[in-house]
Amino acid sequence: GSIGEPHEEFIFRSKLPNIYIPDHLPLHSYCFENISQFSSRPCVINGPTGEVYSYADVELTSRKVAAGLNKLGIQQGDVIMLLLQNSPEFVFAFLGASYRGAMSTTANPFYTPAEIAKQALASKAKLIITQSSYAEKVKEFAKENDLKVMCMDSPPDGCLHFSELTNADENEMPAVKINPDDVVALPYSSGTTGLPKGVMLTHKGLVTSVAQQVDGENPNLYFHSEDVILCVLPLFHIYSLNSVLLCALRVGAAILIMQKFEIITLMELIQKHKVTIAPFVPPIVLAIAKSPVVDNYDLSSIRTVLSGAAPMGKELEDTVRAKLPNAKLGQGYGMTEAGPVLSMCLAFAKEPFDVKSGSCGTVVRNAEMKIVDPGSGASLPKNQSGEICIRGSQIMKGYLNDPEATERTIDKEEWLHTGDIGYIDDNDELFIVDRLKELIKYKGFQVAPAELEAMLIAHPNISDAAVVPMKDDAAGEVPVAFVVRSNGSKITEDEIKQYVSKQVVFYKRIGRVFFADAIPKAPSGKILRKDLRAKLAAGLPN
Ligand code: AMP
Repeated sequence: GSIGEPHEEFIFRSKLPNIYIPDHLPLHSYCFENISQFSSRPCVINGPTGEVYSYADVELTSRKVAAGLNKLGIQQGDVIMLLLQNSPEFVFAFLGASYRGAMSTTANPFYTPAEIAKQALASKAKLIITQSSYAEKVKEFAKENDLKVMCMDSPPDGCLHFSELTNADENEMPAVKINPDDVVALPYSSGTTGLPKGVMLTHKGLVTSVAQQVDGENPNLYFHSEDVILCVLPLFHIYSLNSVLLCALRVGAAILIMQKFEIITLMELIQKHKVTIAPFVPPIVLAIAKSPVVDNYDLSSIRTVLSGAAPMGKELEDTVRAKLPNAKLGQGYGMTEAGPVLSMCLAFAKEPFDVKSGSCGTVVRNAEMKIVDPGSGASLPKNQSGEICIRGSQIMKGYLNDPEATERTIDKEEWLHTGDIGYIDDNDELFIVDRLKELIKYKGFQVAPAELEAMLIAHPNISDAAVVPMKDDAAGEVPVAFVVRSNGSKITEDEIKQYVSKQVVFYKRIGRVFFADAIPKAPSGKILRKDLRAKLAAGLPN
């Protein structure tokens, strides 16, 4: 249109009607709102030990933990760090912090000491709750920074024991007035660019997101109280924390906890506990599709397989459908900053909609989606690809102490820009086709190129570097580096790989190093990642 004439906006919504969302409730109150209907039912089943905690147990223990945190000096608004594998203690600690009005920042226990320290200090955590096997990694900087360390199992010298929290008297917990806009979870994500940042997810945001997934008269019926939901994905990632744990709590389902993915144990536990819902990521789906052992187990209890966190191709979807004929398979699409769920498959709705392979479902209820031309910023109609944007109360409040990064991600009209490229088809289904942002995803885990580039450039024998994703069958993507050696330097690929490996968790290790004379850059200094990705796609350099 001509200047000044408002241009047409193309906004997409769910095919299902909006629902009532009790977003005035604190997260824990919302999760346990209907607990009287299932208080004696199993809530958390510890896979390795077989121990079962009822809903009443989990609710009471969480309130004890809140009282214990208070006694330890954790105030409303304080941050605690959960550095834990999946365990009942993770659940108690997260919910206890919520009752206390505190925030949990979650981190991968496989992180190196430097990675953990960075997040603990940036988030100003007052307490780290971890396991004895990881305590050594945090002891030193915790001491230097006056941070308390607590272990869920036998604590080494100088560390507290988790029973200090669970033995507290819940009646000693002072009343806390929680505002719906208070932050409750603080996962770290690099978003569309730069280094990992604290993502502020509020009580209201997470209540809204969970409600969008499981509440309402005509819910998608992913989960109900008779379900046994597998929790093998790490709870430190928001996908598992929200779409597995919190959604299961809200509906009163049993949560079967596994510490890590191992195919035989997984098959045994699914068979033994008659798992009905299996939330996975594509590499686990791939392992199941490929592994012959799967045929030795009765997996007929599974009615739903969910996949998210990374792209899953149509071929893989079709293979798994053939392997688990009783199960419906559907993808969801999430991004930490989006709360995290943007869209989900409606194959499980009461009156299921047909779902196409490769689709990421349709936008969640009580939310708006638009597809934006990355050049002009104009919203696009169906079947045209552009940047996926989402708006609704479920999205993050912003990045912790980083208003500039927040402004780059959430625009003035409150649209969150994902950095993902996709389109919506004639049946309102979303298909993701590319990623505009820097982010690399190794088996669903985030790798921020900026973090590795900073590390590489810090090496005296490297004068410039760029890190981009390379396709990989097992991992989806692996980070690879283009490196410009300093004058006269003979540094080798292996030396560079080792130098990085020592400083990072396993999935951030560099798969290949390609030496270059220069890194292609725009006049602004921005790395032209597209050019490097195109180089890789055209066949391996040198
Ligand atoms: P994270 O914040 O770690 O959950 O990473 C979010 C990013 O993972 C998204 O912005 C996408 O790039 C990618 N992602 C998540 N779910 C999917 C999916 N179903 N298909 C393709 N990519 C996905």
